[in-house]
Amino acid sequence: MADRPLLNRRLEGFGTTIFAEMSALAGRTGAINLGQGFPDTDGPAEIGEAAARAIRDGRGNQYPPGPGVPELRQAIADHQRRFYGLAFDPDREVLVTAGATEAVAASMLALLEPGDEVVAFEPFYDSYAACIAMAGATRVPLTLRAPDFRPDIDALRDAVTPRTRLLLLNSPHNPTGMVLTRREAAAIAELAVERDLLVVTDEVYEHLVFDGEHIPLGSLPGMRERTVSISSSGKTFSLTGWKIGWITASADLVASVRTAKQFMTYVSGGPLQYAIAEALRLPDAYFADFREDLRAKRDLLADGLVDAGFEVYRPQGTYFITTDVAPLGETDGFAFCRALPERRGVVAVPNAVFYDTPEAGRTQVRFAFCKQQGVLQAAVDRLTGL
Ligand code: PMP
Ligand code: GLN
Repeated sequence: MADRPLLNRRLEGFGTTIFAEMSALAGRTGAINLGQGFPDTDGPAEIGEAAARAIRDGRGNQYPPGPGVPELRQAIADHQRRFYGLAFDPDREVLVTAGATEAVAASMLALLEPGDEVVAFEPFYDSYAACIAMAGATRVPLTLRAPDFRPDIDALRDAVTPRTRLLLLNSPHNPTGMVLTRREAAAIAELAVERDLLVVTDEVYEHLVFDGEHIPLGSLPGMRERTVSISSSGKTFSLTGWKIGWITASADLVASVRTAKQFMTYVSGGPLQYAIAEALRLPDAYFADFREDLRAKRDLLADGLVDAGFEVYRPQGTYFITTDVAPLGETDGFAFCRALPERRGVVAVPNAVFYDTPEAGRTQVRFAFCKQQGVLQAAVDRLTGL
């Protein structure tokens, strides 16, 4: 045992996630936590009631069906039709997962072979790098650069090689808040078709677009048969602890992802699945009000950070604002974030951890704005005069 590391070589260097590290730091210091992205108010009361009712009524307390309860799969299919005009067969083309996290992991393990290449936007959401590595594949960055973090389609074309198996895309994009335009999405889709690539798209912030619109890549010509679309109830319903996510894709792709997924959690969150089925049927006003509430919070925090001297890259979507702390005289976002709880009682996340070339994001720092207005204002007050 002694001469062999206890951690599989593929996971070397992944350690503890930055989000867990920063939430622990907030816990220890009592600082305002604008690091890990979770709301500080719980989602709709009636959805909580629906979950309680399901538990009381004995729905989902025992193993639900592997692909998810029929009520939720139908609600997911209806959601795709209602918001995007997309038709999915709830029995063969929808799979419920333990959050988007499991959906990403199962997709990578199911669809990749060792040696395959995966092109993904850099900065990468943290679990992407780890999941690609667990599958024995290699990530190839398509770097999004400040100030507007637009994807360079020519660079994407160059990044695709004969070894490229899939594109792992995320729009709205965490952490930059970039939202693909219709033109960008169409160019990416064209390339995927031309090079015969699979596309896995993480759309967990689909209902959090403030400027522009959310374009599901799977809706574009030639994409339906090659796209796995991932989403989750965590963000849309402010229930990040429930971990009810899903994929929609062709029956072949769903069968493949399900094969991996069934040996990870098998199933999860039985009673919660019934409640999320109800959540997905909330009226349009719920989704619009939710977005407008977050938009106001984005503006409050963005304006406050500008006044406090940060360079602010105003996001078009998501929960997050990426800033640059160089104008404050800072040279290292990591050091800045480690010191900030003691200095100012605020926790944020250094974007450098999302880059393969940390230099690219060295002074970028991410703040979450999915918090009550009073909390955001208090954070701004603390950050003013740094
Ligand atoms: N993808 C992205 C881009 C995220 O920001 C997150 C975190 N919320 C996830 C996936 C994970 O989602 P879930 O909590 O549903 O597993
Ligand atoms: N998606 C959340 C974020 O970006 C974190 C989720 C997690 O901790 N895995 O902050």
